Amino acid sequence: MNKEEAIKKLKVRVTPIGNGTAIDHIQPGVGLTIVEVLGLDVKEAAAIALNTESKKMKEKRKDLILMENRFLTEEELNKVRLLARGATVNTIKNYKIEKKERLDLPEKVEGILQCINPVCITNHENIKTKFSIKKNPVKAKCFYCETSMDEQEIKKYIKK
Ligand SMILES: [Zn+2]
Repeated sequence: MNKEEAIKKLKVRVTPIGNGTAIDHIQPGVGLTIVEVLGLDVKEAAAIALNTESKKMKEKRKDLILMENRFLTEEELNKVRLLARGATVNTIKNYKIEKKERLDLPEKVEGILQCINPVCITNHENIKTKFSIKKNPVKAKCFYCETSMDEQEIKKYIKK
């Protein structure tokens, strides 16, 4: 699904959800990438609000994703961590926020990032990729070939 299709498919319908996951304070423009990476379909995404007004002073605009009856696995959460540092993930059960996490970069990720190096063994054999993540500047280093990827490359090479 490309971004245009995603926009058409997901109606903007912001309603509170009883059970599921809300990803809030996403940097504008990143919301659709998250929808793509998580492979959300219409049934799963109760709402996606792109470029909405934010109550916080610092960020005037933000993306918001509500997922009804959908909870994120640790692997999926790591994908969102790589894409949306500073966003907030709320796990909602029975209309209550059971868990709230402000996302920061993970120290390492397994199996969610593809190595940019075409001759890396992980691109030729069925081996789970492993990367260590560094901040300032953001870099991901492949455990197998030691190739470093910058932030743009990381965002592009997250597995869908
Ligand atoms: Zn590699």
